[in-house]
Amino acid sequence: MQYIAPLAKLVEQLRSLPGIGAKTATRLAYHVLEMEHDKAKALASAILEAKAKISYCEVCFNLTDVNPCRICSSETRDASSICVVEEPRDVAAMERTRDFKGHYHVLHGSLSPLEGIGPEEIRIKELLARLTVTDVKEIIMATNPDVEGEATAMYLAKLLKPLGIKVTRIAHGLPIGGDLEYADEVTLAKALENRREM
Ligand SMILES: [Zn+2]
Repeated sequence: MQYIAPLAKLVEQLRSLPGIGAKTATRLAYHVLEMEHDKAKALASAILEAKAKISYCEVCFNLTDVNPCRICSSETRDASSICVVEEPRDVAAMERTRDFKGHYHVLHGSLSPLEGIGPEEIRIKELLARLTVTDVKEIIMATNPDVEGEATAMYLAKLLKPLGIKVTRIAHGLPIGGDLEYADEVTLAKALENRREM
């Protein structure tokens, strides 16, 4: 079926989003067309505003609208403990547990030789740079419990331990091969509590 051009364009844009197939994209596009003009405008401007106002924290590389982010500049959080995660959404998952009071470092990916992602492609040197300005005592590896996440944790442990830093790995009990962000708060809090030294 041939859509009129602006509708086809909207469907195509929605389809480019993760997890949205042709069917869902079409359903959403028709829904948008049914919306009040103000509602549609609010949706469009929320997208543009988020893009314009949110950037990466220059310290931890989490998403933020102030720089450094609220966690990095918090007076009540412990800068000597850094939790290393793969993606900004993992910070959100850890924060939901309310159990971690340290700082974060977002790698923006994990090591994956098969996909050509080496140490230079993720924010490892930025983590090392932080250690020269902050007295860090423990680094908690909270990368995903899959092959890439484990390899990344091992690589970093090898790099960090000679610097005299305690390196720990959050416990399993997380679904193997699963994503941190999909773990429930209790499982994630337990995994953090039962972390072991690497
Ligand atoms: Zn930050």
